[in-house]
Amino acid sequence: MIFKATKPTTRPALRKVRTTPTLRPLHHRLDPQRVEEIPFHAPDGVRLGLTRIDTGERDRPAVLLLHGHTASADMFLLPEIRNLVDVLLDDGYEPWLLDWRGSCRLPYNATGQKYTYDDVALHDIPAAVSHIRSRIGDDRPLFAVAHCIGALTLSMSMAAGLVPGLAGVVAQGVFLTPKLAGRTSLRMSLASELLKSRLDHIPVDFRTVGLRSKYTPLFALASRKADCPDPTCQILHHSAWGTGASLFVHEHLTETTHNRLAELLGPAPLWILPHLRRIELARTVVRWHDTDHRYAALPANALDAAGRIDTPLLLLTGSDNGLWLDSQQLCRDVLARRHPHLDVTCTEIPGYGHLDTFLGRGAALDVFGHILDFLAERR
Ligand SMILES: [Zn+2]
Repeated sequence: MIFKATKPTTRPALRKVRTTPTLRPLHHRLDPQRVEEIPFHAPDGVRLGLTRIDTGERDRPAVLLLHGHTASADMFLLPEIRNLVDVLLDDGYEPWLLDWRGSCRLPYNATGQKYTYDDVALHDIPAAVSHIRSRIGDDRPLFAVAHCIGALTLSMSMAAGLVPGLAGVVAQGVFLTPKLAGRTSLRMSLASELLKSRLDHIPVDFRTVGLRSKYTPLFALASRKADCPDPTCQILHHSAWGTGASLFVHEHLTETTHNRLAELLGPAPLWILPHLRRIELARTVVRWHDTDHRYAALPANALDAAGRIDTPLLLLTGSDNGLWLDSQQLCRDVLARRHPHLDVTCTEIPGYGHLDTFLGRGAALDVFGHILDFLAERR
């Protein structure tokens, strides 16, 4: 309802450039001795986060977890539920968590160096896969489980042939064929106004915004017809940073998770919208940097290069995904037609939305079993 494609404003946005970003500490209930935080930079020098959960066993298959944009590795570690890392550890896997540059544990969504999804597909994900490979060797299987934009950018890395040899990939919500809800579809008239007013991101934590700020109209808009009185929930739940999409099924979150939403989902950068808009119009993951030779390793269109994918795929989605609708079913159908040799399964989780497939109180029962079954068949 608000987004419309917009050319980047000619007026410079106000940005504080931080050259030494530090990662916000992870929030988990694991033994700290088992959590190895690896100093990790992308090949273009951007500081990222990479975390390995050490089990003391050297023969476990590794699973790389990729969060969605504005979320972080924390989304797989919620102490208040039986989370995906718990389930993977109990089932004999070694979890690795990447905080790519869109993580809210890092500052880039609000300050510092701007980026596009090209940077994530070209630099962040391949560098993480390469590092993990260097640690585990070539014999141990390496899987990836990716959520939302983490899955979308992974699809580009895979189509570019930059992460060959993965044992299997689970993509939640979206993969190669993003299809946004109509009212969501980035009609960014307000966003363009915000850009003109020299804003470059939308915050979610009303406590840090204040009652009378430039963001107040956005929160007021999100509060209309909202059932929940919490302003952070309002800007996320049925607003998704002002896009009008639904991010999760409200009753699936525990009260603790609900109270942590501002920590789990950070500010959304407005300057990423032109790339997202181009992707949405193409209904596939397309490269932003058309003429910059530094990005030539990425195909112009990931779907057209999907023949390079050499990995079994599980496309997961909630039946009530209010952001990406039936993108995964579309992806399954398109891949079946174009690349019938690919091993593609699409699984719909009844009654689930988008983020609650990982953050939900019942996700271990309702969702993670599908992931474990897929991994078990291919480990
Ligand atoms: Zn709420």
